[in-house]
Amino acid sequence: MAKRALITGITGQDGAYLAEFLLQKGYDVFGLVRRSASAEFVGARLKWLGVYDRVTLLDGDILDLGSIIRAVRESRPDEIYNLAAQSFVTSSWRQPHLTGDVTGLGAANVLEAMRLEAAEARFYQASSSEMYGLIQRPIQDEQTPFYPRSPYAVAKLYAHWVTVNYRESFGLHASSGILFNHESPLRGIEFVTRKVTDGVARIKLGAAKTLRLGNLDAERDWGHAKDYVQAMWRMLQQTSADDYIIASGRTVSVRAMCEIAFGQVGLKMEDHVEIDPDLYRPAEVDRLVGDPSKARRILGWEPTTTVEQLIAEMVEVDLARVKASLSG
Ligand code: NAP
Ligand code: GDP
Repeated sequence: MAKRALITGITGQDGAYLAEFLLQKGYDVFGLVRRSASAEFVGARLKWLGVYDRVTLLDGDILDLGSIIRAVRESRPDEIYNLAAQSFVTSSWRQPHLTGDVTGLGAANVLEAMRLEAAEARFYQASSSEMYGLIQRPIQDEQTPFYPRSPYAVAKLYAHWVTVNYRESFGLHASSGILFNHESPLRGIEFVTRKVTDGVARIKLGAAKTLRLGNLDAERDWGHAKDYVQAMWRMLQQTSADDYIIASGRTVSVRAMCEIAFGQVGLKMEDHVEIDPDLYRPAEVDRLVGDPSKARRILGWEPTTTVEQLIAEMVEVDLARVKASLSG
């Protein structure tokens, strides 16, 4: 019998890659999708990967416990991946309450639905390196204390601890992946890597002259989403549930990432990048670098893509997209 997986957030970057990966493994894949007035855009990432017609989408919202219970009943999952979130840090200062509801309490809703309807299933929570925030150790591992710096990170911390709590209180197989930044051609345009690769493509093709950015000194540990979703699945194949850092172990500044992207098309970033103070954050996470040795040791997981390869792929895809939009 094929295994069954329910993914919340299936229309997002990770949800789409995870669906593709699980389908390759022979899973029946179900996704919780919220109703949209622009139905034609829902599932664009799944369509881009060519898997839209192979997944079953179920109507629901992680703010609505009843809808998750119904989705769990209908999908009868062996594995539940909770990827749904208001995931953009900047928006979390503008919508702190909503971010707390969706990104924080939403996880409790999904856990509760699983406890009531599918207590034998295995659960994955999409935790975030943003929880380390004002870093307490130069390299972060699973023992490093958290110090969140945005409403998003505070909400993720709640979701992280409620996952640990459901594991300890009810014996659920509930694991948390503390994932460092991961990107791809399917990354939302508001995140800095995609904003840069899209901007580079527009400048190269003559559709723009400049790119406005905020803090170029921030440093992130960037990997490829396609690699990172495989780690989620590996966590749920373990006999015991646990928490794991998923990272590359290398940090790169936003400035250096921009240099890679502009260099890819033979341009110099200093000729095009303008600093916009409005894009600075009320509280910044200056530097993140994760130690993925526990995941390597126990899950046998390794990243396969360098930041240079990642950005090169993103620039190539954005060049093709911008070219198509200009000619169409
Ligand atoms: P993403 O592209 O922003 O996707 C978020 C998903 O959540 C979308 O499918 C979105 O649906 C869905 N969603 C939002 N609110 C919802 C609600 N109320 N009910 C149901 N679904 C809702 O995020 P991602 O980059 O794939 O990341 C996946 C998860 O990992 C997120 O929880 C994120 O916070 C976390 N994470 C990401 C990174 C990273 O670097 N990418 C790092 C650490 C942790 P719509 O399509 O309808 O908006
Ligand atoms: P985050 O790590 O989840 O917040 O991912 P982002 O891609 O949104 O931001 C990564 C870093 O890039 C943060 O330190 C931002 O301050 C910095 N950054 C600099 N300019 C920009 C910008 O124009 N947009 C975004 N999103 N981030 C920027």
